[in-house]
Amino acid sequence: MRLPGLPGATAAVPEVMSVSDESDRSMVATICPYCACGCGFYLEVERGQARRIIPRSDHPVNQGALCPKGWASLEMIHHPERLKWPLRRTADGWERLSWQQALQILADNLRRIGDTRGPDALGFLSSTKCTNEENYLIQKLARTMGCANVDSCARLCHASTVVGLRRSMGSCSVTNPLSDLANSRCILVIGSNFAENHPILARWVLQAKEAGATLIVADPRRTPTAWLADQHLPLRPGTDVALLNGMVRHILDQGLHDRDFVQRRTTGLEQLRSSLADFSLARAERITGVSAGELARAARAYASSPASAVVYGMGVTQHASGTAGVEAVANLALLCGQLGRPGTGILPMRGQNNVQGACDMGAMTEFYPGYRLPEDPRTVQVFGAAWGSTCLPARKGLTSMEMMDAALFGTLKAMYIVGEDPICSHPDQSRTRQALQSLDFLAVQDIFMTETAEMADLVLPAACWAEKEGTFTSAERRVQRIYRATDPPGEAREDLWIVSNLARTLGLNFPYTDASSVFQEICRRVTIYKGLVDLGDFGGFWPCLEPGKWNEILHQDCFPTEGGLARFLPATYCPSTQEPGADYPLLLTTGRKVCHFNSGSITRRTPSLLAISDHLVVEMNPEDAAVLEIVEGDRVWVKTVQGSASGYAHVSGSIPAGVVFMPFHFPATNRLTGDARDPISHIPELKAWACQVKKEV
Ligand code: SF4
Repeated sequence: MRLPGLPGATAAVPEVMSVSDESDRSMVATICPYCACGCGFYLEVERGQARRIIPRSDHPVNQGALCPKGWASLEMIHHPERLKWPLRRTADGWERLSWQQALQILADNLRRIGDTRGPDALGFLSSTKCTNEENYLIQKLARTMGCANVDSCARLCHASTVVGLRRSMGSCSVTNPLSDLANSRCILVIGSNFAENHPILARWVLQAKEAGATLIVADPRRTPTAWLADQHLPLRPGTDVALLNGMVRHILDQGLHDRDFVQRRTTGLEQLRSSLADFSLARAERITGVSAGELARAARAYASSPASAVVYGMGVTQHASGTAGVEAVANLALLCGQLGRPGTGILPMRGQNNVQGACDMGAMTEFYPGYRLPEDPRTVQVFGAAWGSTCLPARKGLTSMEMMDAALFGTLKAMYIVGEDPICSHPDQSRTRQALQSLDFLAVQDIFMTETAEMADLVLPAACWAEKEGTFTSAERRVQRIYRATDPPGEAREDLWIVSNLARTLGLNFPYTDASSVFQEICRRVTIYKGLVDLGDFGGFWPCLEPGKWNEILHQDCFPTEGGLARFLPATYCPSTQEPGADYPLLLTTGRKVCHFNSGSITRRTPSLLAISDHLVVEMNPEDAAVLEIVEGDRVWVKTVQGSASGYAHVSGSIPAGVVFMPFHFPATNRLTGDARDPISHIPELKAWACQVKKEV
């Protein structure tokens, strides 16, 4: 087995082991390709086939455990439906191409449209499933073509975290390692069903509980995470900001805040205080549906514990007021001084395994690699010199949501989509479909023929994570290597190979030979990665300015802002875009299930996960079901102003009356959501839409 050429990888690296026996078996260390916990396991490879998964008991995150998705990741590698050849759409179906033909067609179309309509007629979607190196190259490709329109699905999950936490604290990431939750004495979980979505996290939370910690879970549903809670706050969907504002105001009123921390480390308390003048607990109760007494109890527990942490997820971020939700979380932590120490902190739980890394690498239109602002003249100078380019855009371009708008308006003419499936993942599916149909040219690069790929003019077959080398950055800022275990099927190629060869076909300067050469450039150009030249067995945390030296816990002494202080930012509560009414009397909310993942393009092809759940469920309360004469398993239609979708009723007391839950792993769900979005981060509202449900007759 060839050792990778990444910095620090030497023959002494123990996790890639070649076992020389007759069967030619080897064990290859890798990182789970699903959620952002970053669990480590070995792939056992025999005669070129990945046969078995062996969890790493020595891995600091998962300690020998895996969730169902981690175990099932083996099934995607040799899946019979993997894309194997470049394909071009013709009037008669798909035509198989050579790589040379495919890259020439893609280059010719990007060049033709860029030359005739300007570079902003192009749009690039990078992938949070791809490695850091691949994301770095995709955004470089876009920007060296003069195009500012490069984004990723971080827009759909945690764009509000990136924007909100940067505005509050100067840094947009998790503050403490996941395992540090074991040191917490109070854990507030809001908008995160980690027991299903990031199951490994439950290990650390349970350790904290065994040591006496209080677990508070704010979620409209009584989820498996809420089952673990000492206190469940069943707030109405879309009222997170009101819940947090009510708690913050109560803490201030009762003098429970950390005056010393606030005085030394923050600014803006008086603006925050006046913004909450009308946010009594009684008002918070009216909005959230959680009693004032329960809100006060939660606020006191969080503020008075010696070490409190907040874990949040897309229940907070995926709203038209997602940035305000994140800033409200930050206000709570800052007010109580629950930052910079073991057991404290803010943990935004990213979904896909490399969401953090994709953002770090500049696969968000607001940032060049390392969160450098395009409007800062030094940014274009630095990257222009590094890349030998004089046409880098000194401006923010279109977000992925705005790219769909521009396609509909006719100003965006071509898209190159890598590893993303907007037909399933974007809201308002019919609008997204119309937008993609409006393009002159669409190229999609993926491992399966996704719903989006089916619309493309050109489809490029990519290698999956087990077939390539590079690094992923997990939700806790841990940068870890992955190693090539098997060959890609047919003529599928690593995204790094495809993007580099495309760039060279376009005549661009892409002198990279492998992941190592790209990672070395990342360490030179991205300050927070500068010292990560030796990733060792279990990676390293950013920010790392010197080899081997990093802070696992951020903000211990100061914040990375001008002046070193964090800012309180008034978080304005806005009611959901749509409140239930006569025509649409119920409120639809969406989320994940343990056995599926994101758009479902992989897990809906994974037999062992399909055996657990192979159909779209519509979860509803027994009271609502009784009124509608619906029983468990009935086929039902859900309708919103956007469209309709059918699924199978799951009648459960775990969901409050008036609320309907659907997982978004099936394409039909996003027929129902609309494109209202947060004005600051442009994240769409995916968590609260008025709907009606009818039994199919
Ligand atoms: Fe993979 Fe996340 Fe499950 Fe760990 S918790 S095995 S990273 S999906």
